[in-house]
Amino acid sequence: MNDHPIPSPGSGLKCQPETLLVLCDFDGTVCRVDMGNAFLERFAEGWEEIDRSYAAGEVGSRAAYSRIAPLFRANRSQVLDFVLRRERLDPHFPEFLRFCRGRKFDLKIVSDGLDVYIEAILRKYGLDVEFYSNRLLFREDDRIDFAFPLASEACGRCGTCKRSLLDRFRSDYDRIIYIGDGYSDVCPARVADLVFAKPILHEICVTNGTPSLPYHDFGDIRRSLEKSIPDGS
Ligand SMILES: [Mg+2]
Repeated sequence: MNDHPIPSPGSGLKCQPETLLVLCDFDGTVCRVDMGNAFLERFAEGWEEIDRSYAAGEVGSRAAYSRIAPLFRANRSQVLDFVLRRERLDPHFPEFLRFCRGRKFDLKIVSDGLDVYIEAILRKYGLDVEFYSNRLLFREDDRIDFAFPLASEACGRCGTCKRSLLDRFRSDYDRIIYIGDGYSDVCPARVADLVFAKPILHEICVTNGTPSLPYHDFGDIRRSLEKSIPDGS
């Protein structure tokens, strides 16, 4: 006797619903204010010159953070107080998250920013979202360290290598949508299946020949996906 059932015609991978992952940048994307910039401007006097080198492509974010760390002065409560007053979540993001969950799309945040403010802002709005970022470690003397558990050893430019994260998730999903706005989004945008980009990223994508769709807020993206991906549920 053979106890193993014979697969019926048509069973197998083709019958599985498509699996889709939405990867979102945080600063300037989920949060309309670039909290990383606001935060360093407030607590790391003299950081602007280092930021100019970063924006000009002379140093990567990992090296920039390492140079900024000795300039930083603040404790956890000062940081959290500032972040919760200054943050501006995209008002359409909570609804977009509900839309994704309704469609069974996974959504994860990938950020070259810092865990302390991402966690605080998501908690403020009661949003339970998996995120990947650099870490800020508070010391007792109002000084801090940065840690980069998600850097790429092969490249090393960014604190968090979003391209490596996308590659890591690739085998679990049929399609990956990427949403971003800036320099740290350029590499993952090159290998995503669909890209939504705000102006700086969009301009670089155009130069690189990476197809991308411009957007203003998460309401635009929801409407676009509603049209382009039929609801199969
Ligand atoms: Mg950004």
